Order: sequence, then structure tokens, then C-alpha cells
Amino acid sequence: MVVKQNNSKNVAEALGFSSDLMSKAPFPTPEGPSAMTAPVVRFAPSPTGRIHVGNVRTALVNWLFASGQGGKFILRIDDTDLERSTKENEALLKEDLTWLGLTWADTFNQSDRFAIYDQAADKLRALGLLYPAYETAEELDVKRKIAQSRGRPPVYDRAALSLTDADRAKLEASGVKPHWRFKLSGGRVEWNDLVRGPQSIDTSSVSDPVLIREDGSYLYTLPSVVDDIEAGITHVVRGEDHVTNSGAQIEIFLALGGKSPEMAHMPLLVGADGSALSKRIGSLSIGQLRDQGIEPMAIASHLAKLGTSDNIEPRTSLADLAAEFAFSKIGRAPARFDEADLENLNAALVHAMPYTAVKDRLAELDPRAANEAFWLAVRENCARVTSAKPWVEMIFGDITPEIADEDRDFITSAGAHLPARELTAASWGEWTNALKAATGRKGRALFMPLRKAITGAEHGPEMSAVLPLIGRERVLKRLGG
Ligand code: GLU
Repeated sequence: MVVKQNNSKNVAEALGFSSDLMSKAPFPTPEGPSAMTAPVVRFAPSPTGRIHVGNVRTALVNWLFASGQGGKFILRIDDTDLERSTKENEALLKEDLTWLGLTWADTFNQSDRFAIYDQAADKLRALGLLYPAYETAEELDVKRKIAQSRGRPPVYDRAALSLTDADRAKLEASGVKPHWRFKLSGGRVEWNDLVRGPQSIDTSSVSDPVLIREDGSYLYTLPSVVDDIEAGITHVVRGEDHVTNSGAQIEIFLALGGKSPEMAHMPLLVGADGSALSKRIGSLSIGQLRDQGIEPMAIASHLAKLGTSDNIEPRTSLADLAAEFAFSKIGRAPARFDEADLENLNAALVHAMPYTAVKDRLAELDPRAANEAFWLAVRENCARVTSAKPWVEMIFGDITPEIADEDRDFITSAGAHLPARELTAASWGEWTNALKAATGRKGRALFMPLRKAITGAEHGPEMSAVLPLIGRERVLKRLGG
């Protein structure tokens, strides 16, 4: 028996209930993907920690796809685990997404919707697709071991389905609370994954998933489907660690009378050397990257193109990335996350940043840095915006000029030849030409002693841009005048 997502009548039969029941679904049946023009997608993080590079890639890909197609991006907060989810994490995650520019058209919390999940669970019970099971974790473990020792896959044996009403009543009277499992069809679930191509999950090789725990709390599987149906999600885009879940979830979509969305499962991220993403990088939070001075568009440019057929190049807007996005460009091999690439993208973006984009941050760094000419002079020497800080001191502060003994006379005559007018971008050229004529020095012997005396360093931004910022008075002082 093959369960195909676009064939709901057969599926209804395969799942053992009449399609008449499906039409009485208490849930609005969204129009199927084929009827959709604009996609509706969601990013569904659990607020149990800060978002990191791994899960922000999922958010980004959802956002770029929706945005490129004129669709809608919804932020769903998967906070059914009331113990591990916090409002503080939720606020931070919204802050991080906003900082990245990944704004949402709508957001909601699963924790506000338990009554709706209860209704869905009741519907599955009525269909005979959600059954109580009473095994403890230890008993299940023993069953798994026995199955394995007999060379069988560790699939739940559905012993709970053979319990009589009397058995159940006895168990419950003795205080045992059931957990609730979804009854998979035992057939194949097939879909054409937008990234992985044709997929086929044999549900007889998978345990009936637990949807509700003993304490009545929901695992992620059912609420996700209920919400996807209600929100009219057309495309579920997530990591490939959810491929097996999709088998069960597609059956739940159909059982609840919804049509399964299109699916796209992206390969996971690995480190630059192809090994599993190191703990450090894998857990690198967006907040940490921001604190380190990494630009949002460096992260977006990197993550949008990782594992795709496009080159990784800096982009200055999400709209540019959205225009370039296509599922067909995403390869099936794991995507390599290289921190060095991220650094390079960041530097390239910073080198070209207009003053208006950094003004506030420069002012925060140092009030003297909030100066357009300053930024334009130093930006190409900055791998991060914060790298402008030492240049503030070099230009506006007190530095110790570096003057070698053999250069003293040269530096003294340099002071005498400094153009008398206020210094401009042309002054450096005029000055060094005059000095060349007067002293016979040229090339490095001409420029380096001047740079070292005026800036106290061998390297730095273009002298022609720096000179007017330092100003005549300070230049003369540094030359010892
Ligand atoms: N909260 C789930 C997760 O973070 C959502 C998975 C999904 O997108 O369906 O893994």
C-alpha cells in the first residue's frame, strides 16, 4: 500500500476511515499547494536557547523563498515544552531574527493553543488513529533490545492495541497513565522533496509515534501539523533530521483532513573540513556573532549560499539573496560552514559600507569616529566596524611618532615643506612631490618615514585621506615641529 500525499481518498481508505469523516474535519482545509500562487512558510524554533548558525539557516531559507515569491513568512514559537521554553529566549530569538532582517508577517505561540491540539487529538481518537499505550520507558527499552537481538528493527510492536477495555481499566485503576501513539498506516508515504527529490518512507519500519506523553503534554509532531493546516502552510522547509518525521506527519495531515504541504529538507551543516559541525561553531549563537562584530548580511550571504551551486559572495540586501534563491540550487551533500569565509564576507561588506549605515555604531565606538570622512578613510582597513577604533586614536589622539635617527633631518625638512594651506586630499601628493624634489628621496624611503612619524605605524589607511583628518597642526606636532 502506498500513501501518496496528493491522493487523499486512497489515503483515507488506507488509514482505515471513510473520506466522509474527513469532510467533517473541525479544521479549515486550506487550498492545496497546486491552488496556491504565493507560498506561506513558517520557521518554528523552540525557545530553549539562543538561535545559532544551524537553525538560522532554516529561518533564512524559508524567508528568502517566501520573499522571492511574494509569499508570507510566519514565525511559530514551538514552546509546548513548558519547562525548557522561556519568554526570555523567545524575546532574544525575536531580537536576533529582527537584527538579521528576517521579519515575519505573523507570529504565534503553540503554548496558547493546547485546546486546539486537544480537539485534533480527539479527532484522531475518533478515527481510531490515536491509541493509548501503557509501557514504561524501561519496558520499551527491553522490547527494543529483544527485537534487536532477534535481528529485527526496534519498531514498537503495538502490544497496546491488543489490550481489552478491561485491561486498560485495570491499568488505569492502578494509577498507570497512558501515553498516546499515532497509528501509522504501515504503507509507504511518498513525496517529491524540493531538495532531496522523490522520497519514500516505509511506515512499517517506523514505530507509531508518541503524540501525547503520560502527563498529557504534547510532543512536537501533532501540534506542528495542526498549526501548519490552520496557517495554510504551503511549504514545510526544515533540516533533513526531520525526514522520518515527515512520513508520520504527512499521514497526520491527511487524517486531519488537511492536504500535506510541499516538503523541502535541507542537508545539515558541517564544519569546513567536512566533519560534524564542531560544538563551538554549531552552537555559535547569532548574538555572539553580532557581539563579535559580524554583520547580519555577512551571515545571510554565507548561509544562503552554503551547499548551493552559487558562489558565496557578499550581498548587501536580503532582497538580492531572495532574487537568487531556488531550491533547485541546494545540493544534497552536507553544507560546509567555514568561519574563515564568514570573516572574508564580513570584511568585504565593511569595506564598502556607506557612512549612513554605520554612523550610530561609530558614534557609540567613539564620538570622534562619527565623521564621514573618517569612515571613508579607514573602512578599507576594517574587517569589522569595531576595527575603526584604533584608527580613531591614530588620527585624533596622541600617538608616539616613530622616527629613526637617520630620518630625523628628513622629517624636519618635511615639516618645513608641509603645504601652508589647510590640508586636503591633494595635499599628500603635493607634499611628497615637493619633498622628492627637495631631498632626492623616493619610494619607500620617502613615504615610510613620513607614515611612521605621522601615524606611529607602518601600515594603515591611505595617507592622502588621513592627512586632512589629522590636520595641519597635529601633523606638524608629530613631525616634531
Ligand atoms: N520546533 C521544531 C524544530 O525546531 C520545528 C521543526 C519543523 O520545522 O517542523 O525542530
